[in-house]
Amino acid sequence: MINKGLNRLFNNLNKATTTLNKHSLKLIFFVMMLVLSIGLTASCQNKAKRNSAMEKKENRVTEKIFKSDEEWKEILTDEQYRILREKGTERPGTGLYDQFFVKGRYYCAGCGLELFESGSKFDAGCGWPSFSIPADKKSIDENRDISYGMVRTEVVCSRCDGHLGHVFNDGPPPTGLRYCINSASLVFKSEEEIKKEENQSVK
Ligand code: FE
Repeated sequence: MINKGLNRLFNNLNKATTTLNKHSLKLIFFVMMLVLSIGLTASCQNKAKRNSAMEKKENRVTEKIFKSDEEWKEILTDEQYRILREKGTERPGTGLYDQFFVKGRYYCAGCGLELFESGSKFDAGCGWPSFSIPADKKSIDENRDISYGMVRTEVVCSRCDGHLGHVFNDGPPPTGLRYCINSASLVFKSEEEIKKEENQSVK
């Protein structure tokens, strides 16, 4: 009788322990999954933040240049200042690079960032230098311009925010774009000048 009683007691204890173990395992498993999912979510969020920061960095050509009006006036001619910093426009047909088709590259007159290559320049007959595509899209920013009762897309240097001109949808293929740029916003360097500068920097 005593043995039977003891056996029943042990059996009950075993059952209770097994049930308890099952519950404990379930609880441990649940906690582990919870910790894992929190970790994964945090990791994904961090990765997304890093990717977003990298994308922003990649979309920027370089760090912005900020100068006061006085500082710009010191390094720009009056005409360059009026156009680059005050969003002016040169009279059509008067700019240095309107009818100018030498092989080379065009740089921002404010900060020196490369903006266009001569290969994309064409004679639009509008009186301003016209390009079908920038040297690098990242070097040019676009702003909606509703001045003078028109809706246009202003283009500015992405590094110094200098006003360059406007972009229109009546350019030649394949882009169909016409970047209509003020000569005063640009500085040209011929292929020979660029090669000479590159050789000097190597020496
Ligand atoms: Fe610039």
